[in-house]
Parts: sequence; structure tokens; C-alpha cells
Amino acid sequence: MKTFKTIALIAAFLTVHHSISSQNIAANLQDFIGLNDSIVAITNITLIDGTGSPLKRNQDIVFTNNNIRSIGNTGEISIPANATLIDGTDKTLIPGFIMMHEHLFYAKPTENRYKAVHMPFTFPRMYLAGGVTTMRTAGSIEANTDLNVKMLIQEGKMIGPKIDVSTPHIEHEGFIPQLQSLYGNENIEDWLNYWFKKGVTSVKVYNHISKEELKEIIRVSHKNKIKVTGHLCSITYREAAELGIDNLEHSFLAATDFVKNKPENECVLDYSSLLKLDDNDPKLMELMKSLIDREVTLTYTPTVFEPFTNREVIPGGGIKSLAPSLKKHLQGIYDNQINTKADSTSLVQFKKEMTRIRKFHALGGKLTVGTDPTGSGKTIAGYANQRAFELLIETGFALEEAVKIASSNGADYLGISEDTGTIEVGKKVDLVLINGDLSKDISSIRKMELVFKDGVGYDSPKIFSSVEGKVGLY
Ligand SMILES: [Zn+2]
Repeated sequence: MKTFKTIALIAAFLTVHHSISSQNIAANLQDFIGLNDSIVAITNITLIDGTGSPLKRNQDIVFTNNNIRSIGNTGEISIPANATLIDGTDKTLIPGFIMMHEHLFYAKPTENRYKAVHMPFTFPRMYLAGGVTTMRTAGSIEANTDLNVKMLIQEGKMIGPKIDVSTPHIEHEGFIPQLQSLYGNENIEDWLNYWFKKGVTSVKVYNHISKEELKEIIRVSHKNKIKVTGHLCSITYREAAELGIDNLEHSFLAATDFVKNKPENECVLDYSSLLKLDDNDPKLMELMKSLIDREVTLTYTPTVFEPFTNREVIPGGGIKSLAPSLKKHLQGIYDNQINTKADSTSLVQFKKEMTRIRKFHALGGKLTVGTDPTGSGKTIAGYANQRAFELLIETGFALEEAVKIASSNGADYLGISEDTGTIEVGKKVDLVLINGDLSKDISSIRKMELVFKDGVGYDSPKIFSSVEGKVGLY
């Protein structure tokens, strides 16, 4: 189960919304803009609005600048004479994705570890091309870079989603050298305030911290109205929930609650404890209830586990984006690993987690989704977001529910649902226009034609082709 160990798991709240018109987007980026007219009408479209309500066929929608003005049955709403018309026949419109476990680094595979290599030029635009209009970084390797990228996007000097930037991973020791940020001599309040003042809006804690530290981290963060998420190990989910954590990453797959005789405050990795766990084990049910009672959100990240389950080399189809040397390297790893016992076991765990997720959700648990583009280099920004959506369907969610989990549930968590996350009159224009009928073919999620962020329609295929061969380099 080395594969799980090598997965780095790496996480805000208040995303500042800036309306930018194309005039403010740098000249060299204008080519990526597919549409930026002030009055747009999409007619005869199939609409999945992100609220969870049933999809509607034959809809017309009108938006002006960054505001959804009207939605109704085709022919029943008035369309301004000067509107730019898009024929939505055989197409689907969904809200922009709000993805909760993203990173601006690529996990370059090394000897059983990875080296996080920042991708500030390719990844933001790939996220956008993959339908993501808002993302939270769940852990920053270069928090300053992430904050600067966010600013450059707001200024129109780069293109990418709206970003909720998290702290560096709060961690003592660790198997990835870049992750350690605590050395034991810090004042936690000072440490957090340093990042909050710089503009970080979310906190991510990692594997090796103590309950006492987590308690203090939560106290200081909540005092600043900032939420805390964790990829835990030394602290069990139940303990973290009792301490008041807001969010847990990797759904149940990082839980050490079922490790026998786990000493307090010690990280003991034993994935077999989850593999052996019966789906109806009363202790699992109790844990779910405890998380639900305390309103702890789980972030489901199937895309970071899928690369170890005997499927595609790069799930979601992003292989062409990789630098040629990496492509070759990863193909080699894949050829060696395919159909091994390790991968077959991972697949069992992967499927078991789907059952647990369905159950947690059915019981009323709060669920969001994210990709965690690490996966030993096989989870690629943008492509993985589309793949995550397909995996929500494989998990067993209805189409409308999957859209809600990938959009408005994230908006609710981030506290931005008044503005975005659903397609409703009065909301901002964060939308994805898909060239296909999602209800008939889920893989049409890979055929994004335009991704609207704050009213500007970006050309997804053009953006993806602009990064071919570049991931892993910059
Ligand atoms: Zn991560």
C-alpha cells in the first residue's frame, strides 16, 4: 500500500469577487477568450442548475455582463434584440465547478516520494479550462506564489479560477521535505496571523500535529472567521470533530479511527484498518453520526486514488499535457504496476470508499469534492476536475446531485453561495457550456466548449491545447 503512503495530501473561505471585462485581460491572453459580449442569450439548452432539482430541457437563459437576468422555457422569456445568441440545442449548461482540494503544484514522481514543482503558468489556466470557476488550495507549497497568482488573475494578467488560498500545510515532520512548516518553537497564533495578514483565507493541517496544537489552530482561525481543514493521521476524525474542525480531506480514507491501539497524538498508517472495515460496522456508523452532528464537511478526492486502480495511465485524459520525459516515465510506472496486487487492493478500497460516501451523503453528511492533483504525478489539474465529476456518477450519485456536490456544496462551505454555485437569476455568470447531453453520456463533461467566469467565456479546448507538453515544466 505504498501507493497510498506516497500520496501527498495536501486546502478558505472568503473569495474576493472581481468582475473583469475582457478589456482588463492582458492582450496576450485575449486569444483564450471565446466570448465576452455584454448581453448573451443561450437558447434551447438543457440546464442543470446545481440546486439538486431535476434537469430541465428546452430552457432559455439571458445574462448581461456578470449577472444572470432571466431563465425560462424556450420562447417564454424575452430576449433582448441586441443579445449575442448561442444555440444550446444538444448542449448542457451547468454551474462552474467549485473544487475544494486543489493545488498549484505538480507532484513530480521521484523515488517513492514526490517533489512538488510549482505550475503557476499551466495549472491555473488548466483548472479554468476544466470547468473550475472557484477553487480552494488545500495546502500550499509556495503560499506566496499562490497568493500572487490569485492577484494576477484578479488583475487580468493571468487566467484562472477565483482562488481561496490556504496556509502552507501545518506539519511537523513528514515524508515530503517541502511539507514541514512547524519546528516546535513557534507561537501558533503568530504563525497563523502572519499568513492571514498576507491574504490567506483558509487553513490546512496535516499528518503530524497534536490535539493541543489543533485546538489552538481552530481557536485562532475561528477568531479570524477562517475555516480549518485537515488531512489528518495523528488525530482521529472523531477527535478532530470534537475539537471543532470544519472539514476533513480525502473523505474516510485518511481516518485513523479504526487503527487498533493507536497511541494518542501519533500517526499510525494502517490502511488495512479501512479495508477490513465492514460498510455497516457500528463504529463507522457512529463516526458518521458524530461528523454529521458536528456539521463537519468531508472532501471526497477520488481522483487522487484512482491512478492506483488499474485504469488509465492518466485518468481523465490529461496525458498530452505532460512534458515528454514525464509521459514516458509515468507510462513505465504504469506498465510495471498494472494488475499488481497493490493496485488490485487499492481498487477494492476505492470501491469501498464509494459505498461509505454514498452512505454518509444519504444520512445527511456534508460533502464536497476536490481532485488533489498529486497522485504521484497522475492527477492533472483541469482534466482531473472533469474526471472527478465522472467519478461522482460512478460513486452512485444522480446527475443533479453530482452537479450540486461539485458546485453549490463548495459555495456553501466557502460562504459564497449568495453569488455563485448555482444557475439562478441574480447570481454571477460562472457557468460551463458543454457540447453534449450529460444525461445521456457522462463523458461529455470532457467536451467543455466555453467556461464562463464572472461573465467572460473562456475557450476550454484552446486553453488545453496551449499547455500540451508543458505540465511538469512550469
Ligand atoms: Zn492535497
